[in-house]
Order: sequence, then structure tokens, then C-alpha cells
Amino acid sequence: GFKCGIVGLPNVGKSTLFNALTQTAAAQAANYPFCTIEPNVGDVAVPEPRLAKIAAIAESKEIIPARMNFVDIAGLVAGASKGEGLGNQFLANIRETDAIAYVLRCFEDDDITHVDGRIDPLADLETVETELMLADMESLEKRRSNLEKKARTGDKDAKAALKLVDIALEQLQAGKPARFATIDKEDEKEWRKLQLLTSKPVLFIANVDEESAAEGNEYSQRVIDRAKQEDAEAVVISAKIESELALLEDDERAEYLETIGLEEPGLDRLIQTGYSLLGLQTYFTAGPKEARAWTFHKGWTAPKCAGVIHGDFEKGFIRAETIAYDDYVSLGGEAAAREAGKLRQEGKEYVVKDGDVLHFKFNV
Ligand code: GDP
Repeated sequence: GFKCGIVGLPNVGKSTLFNALTQTAAAQAANYPFCTIEPNVGDVAVPEPRLAKIAAIAESKEIIPARMNFVDIAGLVAGASKGEGLGNQFLANIRETDAIAYVLRCFEDDDITHVDGRIDPLADLETVETELMLADMESLEKRRSNLEKKARTGDKDAKAALKLVDIALEQLQAGKPARFATIDKEDEKEWRKLQLLTSKPVLFIANVDEESAAEGNEYSQRVIDRAKQEDAEAVVISAKIESELALLEDDERAEYLETIGLEEPGLDRLIQTGYSLLGLQTYFTAGPKEARAWTFHKGWTAPKCAGVIHGDFEKGFIRAETIAYDDYVSLGGEAAAREAGKLRQEGKEYVVKDGDVLHFKFNV
């Protein structure tokens, strides 16, 4: 599954947030298969309002949402890159994620110690990112001398890798995360193979006090401004509020949301933002048995998308009967869409669009 790691200094609200995420998932377990993979991995349903609409039209008995994983990565302290605290394990855990969500403390509370004795979300971000940058530099420098030797003997792969290693090192030595490097399209695959911690897409979570859940505060504003400068995503959330929301029944939750002036739980926004940060999109299948959301990577063709359901669907792919989401809803389902000429027969080259309602035809 696709994984987003939750990272931050101690006492910023990571566990509170993670528990809220998994409690919400557990509460949904009656409807959705829920599995705890590991204590620190939360498998959550991706909130998707379009799915309920499709299910209503198709009169589906069951609704099955897409899912993604959040991983609570504890143990970051200054010095983690030197193996302090849970250092090495911590770095290994981050390496396995597809994106990183930084939890930044934007709440004041004299009873809850801040490791550096002050509330300053951007300084916290810097502390955490610096550890990751140091770890990247160290691993790159280790690899570099070996690559250089090979490159000197005329090894083309080594030469290509060395070029990317040097691009990354140049960024990092200038104090910038590797994700700011400009990489040629044809080098992207090789770039990802470097598995750098600071080349992953990032999301800033501004964890605000309960009073600021709807409007945010001065601290969270700084986080938003930084995200804008960096072309990153930011979500303002109150982990405390979310942990309370997670325990409520649907009708109570709606009432509570209204009281505090929120339109939807912050977690929904967080999950959706994480999902798009990972470059993920959704297509649907719909019938009387079930309506289901499937996850694919932006840019995937129809056969590849079919493979998400089953390998055989990809191997034996013939075509995909395709209805755009808007057509499906405005016309009122598959039969009406077919009638109106809005059901398209798409072949092997078709790049699936977010929201497509698909029916695969395949050879067995
Ligand atoms: P972690 O070390 O980053 O996992 O932090 P925790 O989730 O354990 O939170 C540390 C403390 O901060 C706990 O006592 C939480 O109840 C408290 N906390 C977390 N989020 C908030 C918040 O939004 N407002 C307030 N007032 N306290 C919070």
C-alpha cells in the first residue's frame, strides 16, 4: 500500500493524531475490512464523497473505499542522523515511506514541555529536516567514492548515478532538501532509486489548539506561508479535537463539527491531501453488488489500472468501458450513459482520468 510517514519532534501531537486516525478507521471497521498491520501503521479509508453518489445510483449493496497507510514514526531528536535516540531505526522507517507529513506544534501549553523550550513551528521544521539532510549527505558521500572509481573505468551506469549524486549533494550542502533539485525527466527513475529521505514529497501539519481548529492561529499561518513558498501542502488541524471527533457517532460528530465551526473533520482533509501528495487518483467500479474506489498513479493507462484489481485483468486486457464521473452522475448511471453515447470504449493506450467509472473487458 501507499505510505505516508508522520514525523516530528517529541510532544508535538504525533501520537494524538495517529490515534485519531486509527480510531476513526477502527470505528469504520464494521463497514470496511480493517487490519492493523503493525502497531505503528494505520490503514485508513480515503474519504471520497463521489463514491457514495455512485453507489446510490448503482444501488450497490456495499461501498468499498480506497485505502492508504499512515505510519507513526517516533524517535526523532536532534542527533538522530548520528544514531542518537532511536536514530537508525527511525531513518530506516522513513526510508520506506512514499511521502512525509511533518507534524509542527502550533499550540501553547505550559504543561507540555517543548524539547527546545519554545513554540516555533518553522524552527522545528528546520531541526527535523536538518537531521534528514545530514542522513542523506552521509549516505551519498558513502556511495560517491565507489561510484567515482567505477565511473573512471568507463562504467556508464556509474557515471549517470554519479551525476545525480552530485546534484543531490550540491543541494544538501547548500542547506536545501534534495526535493528542490531540478531533475531531467529521463533521470527521474534513477533519482528515485537513490532513496533519499529529503526527496520525498512533504506535507506540513500545523497542529493547533482546540480554540483555533477552525480559523488557525498566528503559528499555523507561518506554516501555511512556508508551504506556499516551497510548493508544499499544509493542513491546519487540532489533533486534540480530532481525537475527540474520532470517538463520536456520526450524528454527534456532525453536531460537534458545527459547534466548533468546522465543515468536515480535519482528518478527512489530511487523508485527502496525503493521497494527492502521493500522486494518487481514484477510479470507480459500480454494480448492484458493490461500488468501489480503486487507487492508481496519475498517468497510468487502462491496462495498468485494470491490474490494480487483478493481474489477470491487466494480462488479458481488451478494453475499458469508460464513463466520466460527471456524465455518470448527471445522466444517472451506466444504462443512461450508454444511451446518451457517453460510454466510451477505450483501449490499451488510454490514460485513465480521476473519477472515471470503468468496466474492464478482458480475456481469461
Ligand atoms: P508526540 O510525542 O508528538 O507523539 O505527542 P503526543 O501526541 O503524545 O502529545 C503530547 C502532549 O500534547 C499530549 O499530552 C497531548 O494531549 C498534547 N496535545 C497534542 N495535541 C494537542 C493540541 O492540539 N492541543 C493541546 N492543548 N494539547 C495537545
